[in-house]
Order: sequence, then structure tokens, then C-alpha cells
Amino acid sequence: MRAAVLFGPRDLRVEQVPEPEGDVIVEVEAATTCGTDVKMWRHGHRILGPYPCAFGHETAGMRTDTGERVLVSDSVACGACGSCRAGRAQICRDPVWVLGGFAERIGAPEAALHRIPDGLPAAAAAMAEPFAAAVHAVARGTDAADVGVLGGGPMGLMLAALLVADGRSVTLADPHPERRAQAAEIGATADEALARHELVFEAVGRTDAWRAAAAATAPGGTVVLVGGCPSGTEVTLPTGPLHYEELELRGSFHHSREDVDAALEGLARDEGLWRTLLGPTIPLEQLPAALATPTGGPAKKWVVDPRRLASA
Ligand SMILES: [Zn+2]
Ligand SMILES: [Zn+2]
Repeated sequence: MRAAVLFGPRDLRVEQVPEPEGDVIVEVEAATTCGTDVKMWRHGHRILGPYPCAFGHETAGMRTDTGERVLVSDSVACGACGSCRAGRAQICRDPVWVLGGFAERIGAPEAALHRIPDGLPAAAAAMAEPFAAAVHAVARGTDAADVGVLGGGPMGLMLAALLVADGRSVTLADPHPERRAQAAEIGATADEALARHELVFEAVGRTDAWRAAAAATAPGGTVVLVGGCPSGTEVTLPTGPLHYEELELRGSFHHSREDVDAALEGLARDEGLWRTLLGPTIPLEQLPAALATPTGGPAKKWVVDPRRLASA
């Protein structure tokens, strides 16, 4: 079969590879790209296997054994570690990662599969993976009515869409006018910077943004840190507000199986959650060029449909 294989930093090739192995083989209908893919393509990532390695973690398609349409989650928690036993599977200490969505077929453990609600297109279903992380991040926050979101990339827009759908007043800050327009489209107030809000989500993944998110949080408020900074990074924060204003800082990482199911249900119920993120559909062969395309305009996710041929 054809698959996009990562041979090293910035070296992604579409090649003929052996058929995948796994409990269940899924015929891929849509695999969406995200910022993590760009990071992995540029620098590698701790969850990638040794090069050459399979790639792609937002994957939807059809089980070849039953014909059921499924989302292939990118991870299966171990169920046995301290985090899993404490009900926090998203920070499982020993998860199995399921990568390889940028291919005609992917092999996955049964436990990674989630039924796609009827009527939800494969491209939107594939987005349930990052959406589940947004669902989890919202749950890490509080029920504050006034919320700020820092960053208008896909994650920031997903957070804003979920919070708006929940009836909150949301302000999203991003320097790019195209992304502010997307935020306005989904019902958030868009600005270049945040004022101070009771609850602030950081969705950039840079230390200056972590600091800005804390600075934009009102006394007694909560900051949810959603964007992952490069590994090994350290951040300095002013102690004053942490102490005298009792700011609460909470990390948010990944998602649990329940978050993925909630994301799929939400995406099926409300097209407004995902419509703005849907980018062009491309064949596998165009993926290397797509990942190399500079970001900075509107926040869109490419949809790889491996059934398409390069000439199509
Ligand atoms: Zn992703
Ligand atoms: Zn575990």
C-alpha cells in the first residue's frame, strides 16, 4: 500500500510499504494534519518510533472486518498505572501510541477505535482527536462566564467554539486578522490581545504566551495551559499575581476515551464547531508540500484522502 513515511527531520516520502499489522485494519478515508504533525516533521517527536516511521495521528475510516466507520484514536491508555487508576487516563504513564494515519490503511488495537456517529463526514470525524483535547481542556477550566482564549490556531478556535456553544462570553486573541475573522465567525469576540478574564486558555505553546496568559487572568482566576512548549523549556512567571491574586495554573494534556466520544458527539451535533477548520482535501503525495507550507493565514487543517491518486 501507499503510505507517507518519515525518514528524518523534513524528510517525508510517500512510498509503497508492507500492509499494516494490528487487531483491526482500517481503510483510511481522511487523515487531518495539525500543528503537532508540523512539529514532528520538522524536529521529530518523543512518541515517534525510530526512523523511518509511520506518521499521522488524526485518522478516520472504515474497518475492513465489519465495515463500521471508526475514528482511530492516537493512543490507548494502559489502564494499570497510577494515573489510569486515578481516573486520569490522558496522563497515562505507559500509553500505546497509534500512528500511521497518512496511509491507505492503518492497523490499530480494538481499544483505539470509536464508532463515528451517522452522518458525520470522515474529515470532521478525524478532527475528533484534537477536539477531544479541547473537550478535556474545557473540563480542566472553571464555569466562569467570561473567558479569554490566547491563540487562534486550530486548538484556540476549537476551544472558543466549545466555550461559545456552552454559552460563555469568549474573547480570542491572535495577531493574524484571518484568524480573528474565524473567531468572530464562530461567535467569539476577537482582539489582538486579551484584557483580563476570569478564565484564560493558553493555546499557543510558547513561553511568552504562557506568561501573557497568566498576565491576562483576573484576580482569583484560572489559567489553563493547553499549548505544549518545546521539551526542556522553562518559563519564568511573576510571583506577585500567583500569590496576592491567588491565580491558579492548570496544565491540560491530551484526552481520555470518554473525551473522544464526547468530541465525536459534539462534532456530529454542531457543524459550526468544525466547519471553519476544514481545509483542502489532498492526496498523500501532496502531504510533504502541505506540511512545508508556511502557517500564519487562516487556521485550516489539510485533509489527506489516501484513496485519491496524485494525478487527481
Ligand atoms: Zn493533532
Ligand atoms: Zn496508564
